[in-house]
Amino acid sequence: MAAPKDSDSRKLLRRLQAVMAEAAEGQERLDMIVRLVASSMMTDVCSVYLHRDEQTLELCATCGLNLEAVHVTRLRVGEGLVGRVARSRGPLNTADAPSTKGFRFMPETGEEVFSSFLGVPVQRLGERLGVLVVQSKDAREFNEDEIYALEVVAMVLAEMTELGAFTGEGEALRPRHASQVMFKGVTGQEGACEGTVFLHDPRVVITNPVTDDPEAEAARLHAAMDELRLSVDRMLGQASGDRAQEEVIEAFRMFAYSRSWVRRMEEDINAGLTAEAAVEKQQTAARARMRVAEPYLRDRLADLDDLSNRLLRMLTGQGRDRGVLPDKAVLVARNIGPGELLEYGRKLQGVVLEEGSVGSHAAIVARAWAIPLVIQAQGITTEALSGDRILVDGDQGIVHLRPDEMVRKAFGEKLEMAAQAQKRYATIRDTDCVTLDGERIELMMNAGLLADLPSLPSSGAEGVGLFRTELQFLMRNVVPKRGELASLYSGVMDAAGGKPVVFRTLDIGSDKVLPYMKAFEEPNPALGWRAIRVGLDKRGVMRMQLQALLRAAHGRDLKVMFPFIAQMQEFLDARGHLSREIARERVLGHTLPREISVGAMLETPSMAFAPRRFFEEADFISIGGNDLKQFFFAADRENERVRRRYDTLNVSFLSLIEQIVARCAETATPVSFCGEDAGRPVEALCFVAMGLRSLSMRPASIGPVKHILLRTNLAEVRDVIGRAREAGAQTVRDAVMDYLRAR
Ligand code: PEP
Ligand code: MG
Repeated sequence: MAAPKDSDSRKLLRRLQAVMAEAAEGQERLDMIVRLVASSMMTDVCSVYLHRDEQTLELCATCGLNLEAVHVTRLRVGEGLVGRVARSRGPLNTADAPSTKGFRFMPETGEEVFSSFLGVPVQRLGERLGVLVVQSKDAREFNEDEIYALEVVAMVLAEMTELGAFTGEGEALRPRHASQVMFKGVTGQEGACEGTVFLHDPRVVITNPVTDDPEAEAARLHAAMDELRLSVDRMLGQASGDRAQEEVIEAFRMFAYSRSWVRRMEEDINAGLTAEAAVEKQQTAARARMRVAEPYLRDRLADLDDLSNRLLRMLTGQGRDRGVLPDKAVLVARNIGPGELLEYGRKLQGVVLEEGSVGSHAAIVARAWAIPLVIQAQGITTEALSGDRILVDGDQGIVHLRPDEMVRKAFGEKLEMAAQAQKRYATIRDTDCVTLDGERIELMMNAGLLADLPSLPSSGAEGVGLFRTELQFLMRNVVPKRGELASLYSGVMDAAGGKPVVFRTLDIGSDKVLPYMKAFEEPNPALGWRAIRVGLDKRGVMRMQLQALLRAAHGRDLKVMFPFIAQMQEFLDARGHLSREIARERVLGHTLPREISVGAMLETPSMAFAPRRFFEEADFISIGGNDLKQFFFAADRENERVRRRYDTLNVSFLSLIEQIVARCAETATPVSFCGEDAGRPVEALCFVAMGLRSLSMRPASIGPVKHILLRTNLAEVRDVIGRAREAGAQTVRDAVMDYLRAR
C-alpha cells in the first residue's frame, strides 16, 4: 500500500475527534460524520450502515442519498455491494457500481445516479459492526490513499460504536452491551445456572483512538514493543533445552521482531491513530485474514493475535489483572484448556465457550464439577462484559445474556424443576441398583481431584471407577514430587473410606498438554505420542507415579489402570514396570499394598481383537468410550462437526461393546465402561443391555442412570434392540426411545 497522505487523513481525524467531542445525540453525531467525510474526501455521498442484527444492515445516516431512506433501507449480509463488503470484511472499490457483480438497485435511496462506489467494513476484532460508504457521480476508482483514509475513519467509528457514541432510537442504534441477547450453542454439559459473567480474557476498551501527537504515540508504541520483545526473549530463555518448545517460541519471536508489522502500525499512527488504536487496527485486519487463511497461516495469525493482545494490555494498562472472581461466576472464554480451567477451581457456576468441544478435557473437568457448559456460543466473547447477568441452559445449549424479567422467571422455574429431580434422586441414593428383572448393576463415579471425593457418599456411587491422575499434573507449572503425589493418593483412598478407587496412570498428550512437558508439534496429536506411549518412553515419570501409588496404598488394596493400551505388549511392559517397582519397594522395606489389581483401558478397536492372553493377564478392563468411539468412527472427539454424525447407539458401536463384553466373559475378566456416555441414561441402559454390569460416570449422572435402570426390564430392552437390529436400523435410538415413551 502506498504511504498515506499523513496530513490529509490526520486533518480528517482531528475534525472527526472534534465532532465526537460535541455533546450531540448519536444520530446527530452520525449525520455530522457523514457530512464531514463527504466534504473531506470530496465525494457526492457518504453513508453509514450499521448492523440491526447479525445478518441485517440498516442505512443509519447519509449525506447525498435520499434522507427518507435513512432507517428504512435494509440489506442482508452478502446482499448488494454494501452487503458484499460486510461479508468479505474487506473494501470494495469500483468505478461502475451499477454493473458490478452483486449490485442491488434500491429506488428509495436515489443512488442510481452515482457511478463510483467505495465501501469499507466497520469492524472490531472480528466483530462486524457496519459498513462505511462513499460514492461519486463521476466514474473513477478511488486510489489507495483514499481507501486507507476511509479505513482509518471506519476504525475510529468502530471504537466509538463500541463506546456507545451512536446510541439512539431503533435497533441499529441501540446501546452496545446493554440489551438482552440469546446465544444458541451446543450442550457441553447438562444443567442450568444463573450467575455473573467473568471474562477469561477481559476486553480492552480504547477510549482515545485519535492523536494530535504522532511522535509521542510512536514512542509509546516502541516502548511497548521493547517490553513485548523482552518478555518473549524471557520466555525463550525459560524454554532453553527443550527444542520443541523453543521452536514454537522462536516462531512467536519472529513476529515480535517483524519490521513490517511495526511499519504498518507506524503508518497508522502517522495517519492520526493512537498507538493502541494502531495495534487494534492491524489486529482486526489479521483476524479478517484469519477467517479465510490456510490452517498453517491461521496458526501464525493466531500468534500475531496473541502478541497484539499483549501489546494492547501494555499500552492501556487494562486487563493485566483479571480481577476477583465474583460470586456465582460464569466463565466466558473463546476456548480454554483443562489446566487453565482447573486454576479457577470449583467456584465457577458454569462455563460458556465460543469454541470448545464436548469431547475435550476441559469439558470433562466441567462435567466432573457438574456445572453446566455451553460450547460453540458464537459471538459471546465480543458481546459479554464482565459483570453481566447470565443464564446458562446446558440442556438446550442456550445462553441468555442480560435476561429480562420474563426470561429470568421462566428460567427460575426450570431451576426449581431440576432441584425437584435432584430430591427424587436423593431418595434412591442408598438403593441397590437392580433392574426389574433382577440384574445387579454396579455404578461407580469418575474423579480427578481430591475435591471430587465428597461426591462419593452424596451420589451413592459404589467407588471411583476412574481416577484421572493427570488433572493434578495439569494444574501445576512443574512436575509434582513423589511425596506430594503419595499424600494426595493416600488422601483420596482415605476419603473413599474403603470403597474401591481405580487410579489411572498419567494420560497426557492429545489435548492434555503439560506446560513443562510440551511435546513436539504433531500433525495428529490424538493419534500421537500420548498416554501409555509417553509413560513407556519417559519412564522416570511413570516410575515415580507408580512408587507414589504403592506408598499411598500402604497395606490397603491398590487398583492401577494403564491408559490407551493399543497392543498387548504395551500392557505387559507397563505391568512389568509396576512389578519392578513393587520389588524395589519391598527391598527398601516399605509396606506394600494388601492386594494389587492391574487393569487396562480399552480405548482402541484393536484391543477388541487382542490375543486371549491379554484378557487373561489383565485383572480388569475398563472401556474408555470417549477414545474408543472416536477411533471406531474415525471422528475426532473434539471436532463438533464430525463428532455428532455418529450416534453412540449406532448398531456397529453396540456390537463392538457386545464383542468386548463377550471376550472378557471368556476369561472371566471384570469389565466396566468409564467414558462419558456411561452417564447418559439411555446410552447406559443400552450398554447394560449389551451385557455390561459396571459403569463409571460423573457423580451427577448416578441418580438419573439409577432411576432409569431401577424401572427397566433388561430382557425387554434387549428384545427392542434385537428387533431394531434385525430390521436393519442404523441406530437403535429411535426404537429404544419409543419403548421408553410407551412405558
Ligand atoms: C475415555 O477415553 O473414554 C476416557 C475415559 O479417557 P479420557 O476421556 O480421559 O481420554
Ligand atoms: Mg481416553
